[in-house]
Amino acid sequence: MTTVEKHWDAIVIGGGPAGASAAAILAEHGHRVLALEREKFPRYHIGESMIPFTYGPMERLGLIPMMKQSAFQKKYSVQFVAPNGKASQPFYFFNRYDRETVAQTWQILRSEFDEILLQHARTKGAEVMEEITVKELLWEKGYSGQRVVGVRAQTKAGALVEFRAPITLDCTGKESFTAVRNNWRTKDPYLNKVAVWTYYRGSKREPGLDEGQTTVAMIPHKGWFWHIPQHNDMVSVGVVAEGKYLTRGGVKDPKAIFHREVEENLWIKDHLSVGEQVGEYFITSEYSFHSRHCGCEGLVLVGDAFAFLDPVFSSGLMLALKSGVLAGDAVHEAIAARDFSPARFGDYARFMREGVENMRKLVYAFYDPNFSFKQVIDKYPEAAYEITDCLSGDVNKDFTSLWNKIREFAPLPEELPVGGPLAKLPAAQAA
Ligand SMILES: Cc1cc2nc3c(=O)[nH]c(=O)nc-3n(C[C@H](O)[C@H](O)[C@H](O)COP(=O)(O)OP(=O)(O)OC[C@H]3O[C@@H](n4cnc5c(N)ncnc54)[C@H](O)[C@@H]3O)c2cc1C
Repeated sequence: MTTVEKHWDAIVIGGGPAGASAAAILAEHGHRVLALEREKFPRYHIGESMIPFTYGPMERLGLIPMMKQSAFQKKYSVQFVAPNGKASQPFYFFNRYDRETVAQTWQILRSEFDEILLQHARTKGAEVMEEITVKELLWEKGYSGQRVVGVRAQTKAGALVEFRAPITLDCTGKESFTAVRNNWRTKDPYLNKVAVWTYYRGSKREPGLDEGQTTVAMIPHKGWFWHIPQHNDMVSVGVVAEGKYLTRGGVKDPKAIFHREVEENLWIKDHLSVGEQVGEYFITSEYSFHSRHCGCEGLVLVGDAFAFLDPVFSSGLMLALKSGVLAGDAVHEAIAARDFSPARFGDYARFMREGVENMRKLVYAFYDPNFSFKQVIDKYPEAAYEITDCLSGDVNKDFTSLWNKIREFAPLPEELPVGGPLAKLPAAQAA
């Protein structure tokens, strides 16, 4: 039996960074917003390194004072290590950005950070239900074909409940609830990597200011290790490469893959030579994708549910928080105008896609075996600033001149379609 619950101004599916930030913004605007989250927080999640321009959305959410007082590891820099173990000079964000704001960011523990964020949405006035899984979108005939009017969800005890609202935000992460069910998901043909990772306690980290720096340690075959020092003396460490490469010789066990790759990487091996491995070994296939549409009447896609990009430049959290804030504002305006037509979310979608597309070009260049950022900077010193800005997450800028410089050394991907809202959803798709 399905219970029909009261009506809401907006429903958010998923209480991760995208969902919690959208819910907080909508509640702050005074709307009755309901966030439905499948898990009980705190829950484990990967994605632990922030980039400088995560600052803007966190400031808008009012989270900076909490972050400054938190135990989260401060991050001032990034370094790259060649396969032979030679480390680059650390790149310090304060050489480019304001020391008091953007130039310092954080390495977080997602179980803690995401719980704080979801609690923040509650404090702002959002109603949050945990351990409830959205099973279906509810559809009705709308002005432009079918429109979404809410969701049907199932509690842990098995009860089915319907929640109704004129607008639903899909913030379900890379599982991408709507895009998968409506066949909107387009896989990136080249960025199809596998990641294997685990955690260490008490292993080697750099001294002083570099203690919290991210290290990207290259492996010879289009892959890399991440080394992300966290608080409580923990380090998140993982390897990303093509699945065929990581499972060579028929090795499928994540622990065996991880340790074989550690043995082949001098810098990582040295840093893990002290301390102890903690907990599970994780594995995930990571097909970068984007959704061809950012929604339809009554529905908008936010965070990874709209586009998931290879994590090499740690852009996921910045994009999730930024899109949560922007979608929250766009939905607020839609509620005020009582207009949930697809055109309402066109600007939001174009803005987010522009940022993802810019970052995606740098990801392609990074994986090109014949390319190095140094080549470009040696020929065009001013490109260093453009590359830094994009890598730091200042992604909504005109980078045409940078792409022209990089194209002299490496082919770049074609622009993907903008991924605006679907104007008219055929009834057959609205299942
Ligand atoms: C290997 C790897 C490494 C990464 N490293 C980094 C990094 O260093 N830095 C970085 O910034 N990003 C990183 N990322 C990306 C980062 O994890 C994501 O971009 C970020 O979590 C996106 O946030 P989100 O809110 O969109 O989705 P999520 O954080 O995935 O949140 C989605 C939420 O929706 C809930 N949900 C899903 N389906 C339903 C449903 N049907 N009903 C109810 N609830 C539902 C889930 O339980 C989840 O809590 C990495 C990703 C991977 C795979």
